[in-house]
Amino acid sequence: ATPTALMVGTGRGAQLGILIKGPEVLETTRRVDTIVLDKTGTVTTGKMALTAVHTADGVSEEQALRLAGALEDASEHPIARAIAAAATDRLGALPGVEGFENIPGLGVQGVVDGHAVLAGRERLLADWSQPLGAELAAAKAEAEAAGRTAIAVGWDGAARAVLVVADTVKPTSAQAVRELRELGLRPVLLTGDHRAAAEAVAAEVGIPAADVIAEVLPEDKVAQVRRLQGEGRSVAMVGDGVNDAAALAQADLGLAMGTGTDAAIEAGDLTLVRGDLRVAADAIRLSRRTLATIK
Ligand code: ADP
Ligand code: MG
Repeated sequence: ATPTALMVGTGRGAQLGILIKGPEVLETTRRVDTIVLDKTGTVTTGKMALTAVHTADGVSEEQALRLAGALEDASEHPIARAIAAAATDRLGALPGVEGFENIPGLGVQGVVDGHAVLAGRERLLADWSQPLGAELAAAKAEAEAAGRTAIAVGWDGAARAVLVVADTVKPTSAQAVRELRELGLRPVLLTGDHRAAAEAVAAEVGIPAADVIAEVLPEDKVAQVRRLQGEGRSVAMVGDGVNDAAALAQADLGLAMGTGTDAAIEAGDLTLVRGDLRVAADAIRLSRRTLATIK
């Protein structure tokens, strides 16, 4: 590859909204045969909204929103932003939180109004011996079957509410998956979210359930990329979150959403400036064309 032709490739990339770390990236892009897509913020908008509050007997919606909202107000997670915003809308100013702790990929904990509160995956509450009762479990299952994310909330030693948060698939994601397939790549959906929610999103964009890797802890995303590489695949990864940074670095080609976190952008080889997944296909097309011109 001659330096001049590669420079042309990177210049054209900038016009398409692709920032390329170095000309050598184009070479890697050509070889990739599998593309791992993070779900939240990559395939979906990541702009979540609270759609339902389910509570255990004797618990009011206001109380659940007040405690969960105050706790989530200390977190930057898109799920947390949605819960805190809905709580503020409904209740006004929220109480403060003490001893706030983020448990990556699982949820958050802290003390609000003197109550030790947990919010996050069912597994987080189970770890603290706060299993969901039958009614809350049913509400959670129903929300997840519809592709939503259910957040379990517990305090004073018991699970007491399930908050339902809905994300939306980006209008361009299904087209992007089609284009990636046409380029001969196999799209795989990777997420920390529940399997049912992940499969509902996958179905919407045309990824079969067999290519969905769900309920993956942030530190295990990199292991999933390594596993695919161990099967002899050349892996591209598209992500936006702090959670995705290690996997983006491990992938043969890391593509960061420009709308995502600095950690992801730093770890990626390419940045998709507008956060449009179709541009991932453009990037692969561009690098193949650029290298074909050189050869
Ligand atoms: P993704 O891989 O889809 O970007 P994350 O790894 O960030 O998702 O989170 C995985 C799961 O952990 C979420 O779907 C949610 O159930 C739970 N979770 C993480 N952070 C929070 C939080 N601040 N509040 C509630 N739940 C959370
Ligand atoms: Mg994400």
